[in-house]
Amino acid sequence: MILPKSNRLSAEQVAELTEIVGEFGCRLQPIIGAMRTIYAILGDERDVLMINRIEGLDYIDRVDRIQSPFKLMDRRSDLASHHIKIGGVTVSEELFVIAGQCTIDPKNPGYFYETAEMVKEAGGHVIRGGVWKPRTNPYSFQGDVKSLDILMEASRRTGLPVDAEVMDEDQLKMALDAGVHMLQIGARNALNYSLLRSIGAAIAETETVVLLKRGLHMGPINEFIAAAEYIVSFGNPNILLCPRGTKPGLDGYRNHPDESITPLLKEKSWAPVVVDPSHSVGRATYVPACAMAAIAYGADGLCMEAHVEPSKGIGDDPKQALNPESLSRIIRQGRELWNLTRGATTAIA
Ligand code: PEP
Ligand code: MN
Repeated sequence: MILPKSNRLSAEQVAELTEIVGEFGCRLQPIIGAMRTIYAILGDERDVLMINRIEGLDYIDRVDRIQSPFKLMDRRSDLASHHIKIGGVTVSEELFVIAGQCTIDPKNPGYFYETAEMVKEAGGHVIRGGVWKPRTNPYSFQGDVKSLDILMEASRRTGLPVDAEVMDEDQLKMALDAGVHMLQIGARNALNYSLLRSIGAAIAETETVVLLKRGLHMGPINEFIAAAEYIVSFGNPNILLCPRGTKPGLDGYRNHPDESITPLLKEKSWAPVVVDPSHSVGRATYVPACAMAAIAYGADGLCMEAHVEPSKGIGDDPKQALNPESLSRIIRQGRELWNLTRGATTAIA
């Protein structure tokens, strides 16, 4: 829908608009109101070049798109009936839980194996473990490829699938060759379109699941969903959207908690939402409330950092990781809240 700056356009201006939309196979339909005339674009109005050409005209205020910019991620797409199955569950049918260490310590693999057992005992479905780490400080521990073997060994020991972040194509190949079941795209890479494309292409013919974190500075909801569309457009629709807090942080929290965008994401997209409360608030003591808020907002799952002995962890773990008691309490209470809220929705509907 084209909204001009003035109430009526001249014949020359209408002719110019007609010509532009015509170049893109569309037609112009004036909608004449008592005070103002606006113009519908008949045809596929999603071409960004067409919209930019129209918005570049000095007599045009803006173009509002009615069609969704996402062909596949839109909740009205055929993919809306797609179910993601991993770790013995169908995501969205029960509270889905990813948990484990921020960072695997290659010098102390025992901690990771114990953490993995703890996640399983607490009722988690996927074990997370950072192999390669995006660190703000170039001198901090950057991860170690040796941790990939530790991650896969934890999967064998527990029988649970594993999740790890990849930041480039080499890591992507190594992770897939090793059999990593879930690939995490971190907040720093959520807008790295060439990486998104590489991941989409590499997993197109597989069952691999992608956990796409929300970018640190992502603004509009559409930007997040469009990043997911990059991956899904290659053919594998196993994608989870993961709000994890944005910058600038709320004073006292590591980031600005954003679990409240869950219903907004769900209004636009069918993709399950798995909230990461750990990176959102950044301290283990604040994680339980954030996790419950996420479930109350309708999240399908949680991705939480947890460690069998947080003070012995590396990376974010000493500060953020849940200890065994907190993890199992959150999962237990989270399931109760899930049943309460999902039950309430059914009763009202
Ligand atoms: C992580 O999961 O440990 C991590 C670095 O996440 P994010 O990309 O959300 O910062
Ligand atoms: Mn972390």
